[in-house]
Amino acid sequence: MAADLVVRRPQGLYCPAGDFYVDPWRQVERAVITHAHADHARTGHRHYLAARRGVGVLRARLGRIDVTGLDWGETVTLGAARVSLHPAGHILGSAQVRIEVDGQVWVLAGDYCVSTLGDANPTCEPFEPVRCDCFVTEATFGLPLYRWPRHADVFDDMNGWWQANAAAGEASLVGAYSLGKTQHVLAGIAADLGPIYVHPAAEAINAAHRAEGVRLPATRPWGDLDDPRALRGALVVAPPGASAPWRWQRSVRVRESFASGWMQQHGARHRAGLDRGFVLSDHADWPGLLAAVDAARCGRVIVTHGDEAALVRAVTDKGLRCGTFRTAFGDEAPGEGGAAE
Ligand SMILES: [Zn+2]
Ligand SMILES: [Zn+2]
Repeated sequence: MAADLVVRRPQGLYCPAGDFYVDPWRQVERAVITHAHADHARTGHRHYLAARRGVGVLRARLGRIDVTGLDWGETVTLGAARVSLHPAGHILGSAQVRIEVDGQVWVLAGDYCVSTLGDANPTCEPFEPVRCDCFVTEATFGLPLYRWPRHADVFDDMNGWWQANAAAGEASLVGAYSLGKTQHVLAGIAADLGPIYVHPAAEAINAAHRAEGVRLPATRPWGDLDDPRALRGALVVAPPGASAPWRWQRSVRVRESFASGWMQQHGARHRAGLDRGFVLSDHADWPGLLAAVDAARCGRVIVTHGDEAALVRAVTDKGLRCGTFRTAFGDEAPGEGGAAE
């Protein structure tokens, strides 16, 4: 049997033939980064390789780094490995890493989103199936209960909720992580319904998206807000745990919601004390995970982070060889302030 192209080391997932790591969680010489979320892209590596489309958001998050940007499908040779990056459909610049050594191909998909309903995320290129011998997959939503509704229905809901709140003179707060989900919400919402405010930290990430040609509506950082009464009728997109909305409650009634795949869990909205929960995820749902495995046409699957057990069982039932990598990815709990979802 051919040697494994990627192994787990204390620093992260390592390709011995190419002497590089993919999304390492400790400092290394050469890191190939799938995307700019905090659990995959960390500071302190000597050299970074990432999709050219994602370099702007990577720099917005990590500051000055030594990074080489690759076009989609462009091949580089690292040691004995040929490496290329392919769209993962998760956030701007999110990549699957294709590694080829002696005719054997592994794909590390990082975080990805593939919709079996044909829904697309307007902030990034759609997931591209890449044939391989071994497919390394996440399993953030690796349970059969996760089946995303159509984006159009989710945004209809969100627009209707905002409009009703605005008619009552209230503010509408959508909880969304600063990188990825915030821009997905902004790109999908009916922006003509009223002014839109975002967390000041999200403005830099919005700017990195606009610089890549992603169309987002006009937004204002809420640091510019002189009087919270200006929020009556406004939409506010804020990361979980942002404290400003609490200070506004005296001046304006703030209706709170959250946009996340976790909102599909029974009772999640009530536990979080939210007015609304919108099921909007940038990860594959259960049918999406299985579709991605099928599209890879692989003989072997390795599951990294999330609900591994159910996915391992489902993949094994397909007759494929399946194992897991224990990683430091996705360590945020549902509904908490992690930056990774
Ligand atoms: Zn992740
Ligand atoms: Zn991610």
